Amino acid sequence: MKINIRLKNESETRRLGEFIGGLLKGGEVITLIGDLGAGKTTLTQSIAKSIGIEEDITSPTFTIVNEYEEGVGLNHFDVYRIGDSDEMFDIGFDEYIESGRVNIIEWANIIEDILPEERLEICLEYEIDGRTANISSKGSKYDEILKAIEGKFKIA
Ligand code: ADP
Ligand code: MG
Repeated sequence: MKINIRLKNESETRRLGEFIGGLLKGGEVITLIGDLGAGKTTLTQSIAKSIGIEEDITSPTFTIVNEYEEGVGLNHFDVYRIGDSDEMFDIGFDEYIESGRVNIIEWANIIEDILPEERLEICLEYEIDGRTANISSKGSKYDEILKAIEGKFKIA
């Protein structure tokens, strides 16, 4: 399944993130793809807020992953500086994915070859007057999430 949603401003990006966060139970994988400034971290912050994380979320650019324990928990990856997918195994990527926390991966396209097959993938396209989110689901759990999003947001 695949849908496009038009996000006119930052608050619309945050509204989408908060809605998605409300659908998560833990253990999900959400991959974020888009250029610098496309809104990946903004979306992560709003998802984190709605799963009950009160700490400030910043991109873990130098650490690759930040873990948050509140609520169902969050593993927030930013793999921008990773040289090779193999480095992800060195940091225990599989254990994170199996941890039961929500997993959000910024720049997921860089480690495409090791991503779990089943996931929600959000591609953010930068536009001068906003963003377009192309959201696709792989796997029945994520199809359900996408259907809920489709029912709530105006499709571009
Ligand atoms: P990334 O993590 O992809 O590099 P950030 O979330 O750090 O991007 O930054 C995105 C920037 O774009 C922020 O300044 C934010 O205010 C802005 N932004 C987010 N969503 C939108 C939108 N829908 N329209 C316009 N600006 C947006
Ligand atoms: Mg970022």
